[in-house]
Amino acid sequence: MKGDGQLTVDSGQLTVKHIPQRMCIACRERGNKDSLIRMGEGRGAYVHDDPGCIIIAIKKRGFDRALRGKMNILNTLGLCKRAGKLVVGFDAVIADITKSAGVMITSDLSEKSKKEMTFHCEKHNKKLIEIPHTMAEIESVLNKKTGIISILDEGLFKSLTKS
Ligand SMILES: [Zn+2]
Repeated sequence: MKGDGQLTVDSGQLTVKHIPQRMCIACRERGNKDSLIRMGEGRGAYVHDDPGCIIIAIKKRGFDRALRGKMNILNTLGLCKRAGKLVVGFDAVIADITKSAGVMITSDLSEKSKKEMTFHCEKHNKKLIEIPHTMAEIESVLNKKTGIISILDEGLFKSLTKS
């Protein structure tokens, strides 16, 4: 049979319903398009909505130029959140600072908060980087307006900070 179809029984009638298939770039298994998340813009690279696959996919981005073109810090942060690898907001980040692989702050974070985060990161020997994005942009991908984001996975942090 040509193409990817799925045989379904619909109200007693046998029909072949066409469900588009895509390959997960992490595990390379194919699945229904709607069970996969599109990474970034344009002709998609897809990944399973599964923490393991998401983490592999983001790390892969680090050495895949084609994929890197589609991804940016913002949509990568969205995927990190889905993988459960982000802590956001001043209090939560400070509370979990020992688990952090690195902290990102937005360019429009207040000077006071920047100073305080710098203090806490230095104290715990954590990397702190300022990203060229605003709190409003972070809100658009994480549904939370914050200028402070902690990444809980070393490899993800490295991948995010690679330009
Ligand atoms: Zn997968």
